[in-house]
Amino acid sequence: MEIHQEIAGTLLKHYRFLIATHVLPDGDAIGSMLGLGMGLQKRGRRVTMACPGGVPENLRFLPGSEEILSADDIEPSEYDIVVVLDSSDLGRIEGIYEKLPSGIPIVNIDHHATNKSYGTYNYIDTSAAATGEQIYKILVSMNVRVDVSIAVCLFTAIATDTGFFRFSNTTPTTLRIAARLVEKGAEPGAISEQIYEARPLESLKMLGRVLDTLRLDKTGKIAWLEVYDDWMTEFSLDEEQTEGFVNYGRMVRGVEVAFLFRESSDGKIRVGMRSKGEFDVGALAEELGGGGHAKAAGCTLDTGSIAQARELVFGKVYKIMGLAGD
Ligand code: 5GP
Ligand code: MN
Repeated sequence: MEIHQEIAGTLLKHYRFLIATHVLPDGDAIGSMLGLGMGLQKRGRRVTMACPGGVPENLRFLPGSEEILSADDIEPSEYDIVVVLDSSDLGRIEGIYEKLPSGIPIVNIDHHATNKSYGTYNYIDTSAAATGEQIYKILVSMNVRVDVSIAVCLFTAIATDTGFFRFSNTTPTTLRIAARLVEKGAEPGAISEQIYEARPLESLKMLGRVLDTLRLDKTGKIAWLEVYDDWMTEFSLDEEQTEGFVNYGRMVRGVEVAFLFRESSDGKIRVGMRSKGEFDVGALAEELGGGGHAKAAGCTLDTGSIAQARELVFGKVYKIMGLAGD
């Protein structure tokens, strides 16, 4: 029996589900959660869905997203089993994890190479472009009929984690599953419009400000961008609205690694990381207490200032690249 079939069997032995996903959730996190949640509901299960800070504005077009709770709203004692999605460690569901009854079985479904196998049951597939692919396989094994709502959610999950099928994680399996979801009613054009062409005006004004900070290091291999907390206030933006800005660093010819350093309101520095060459940003992020994939990762640092964070991170990058770090 294949692992997704085993996991499907394990899930169907339970009745009251909590499905949780990571803080600052992306399309894969929310799309996968809704896809699995709706599938389990079709099989008569009671399902609660939650992510630490609730659903970001840009993903509220997803059917069922209004049902997703934030950490503050969940009742700890109501579940037989917890399914954690797209999260490489339990710190990613901070606020929810602390509320779980001790001993509750945890099903860990994820595609990050940095996953810590923290579950009672673990289904980790680093060849999956998105957790959404894994959920699709589970739903098929559970004999769930994929309707248009599930198709939209899972297509969004897979499309966002592959940059709409441009990134190197896109495989024949990814495209086959995506094709099935389009047959079930997901519309790529409409979903792309919701994801990429429905930003608040201020987020694009902010992008202009952030692009002005784009710099290359002395080797020309590292690009970085900066975001200051008072800019967030000035443009009335939430942190999720800077999502994707880090990708601009990677667009520069010759750049191998790109970073975005963002001041958080809690005084910490969030670091977004992207690679377009051999450099493994997932391993770098893990070393710094975060995680992710070889080509897209992140972490949070306590350094106090962006300049200090940059020094720490670049020092490690130069060391890994075998360059002198001054
Ligand atoms: P993004 O830069 O789009 O927020 O994240 C890129 C990838 O790295 C995503 O797969 C995300 O889940 C992962 N990631 C980002 N920040 C962290 C972090 O602080 N910890 C862990 N474990 N993974 C992260
Ligand atoms: Mn993902």
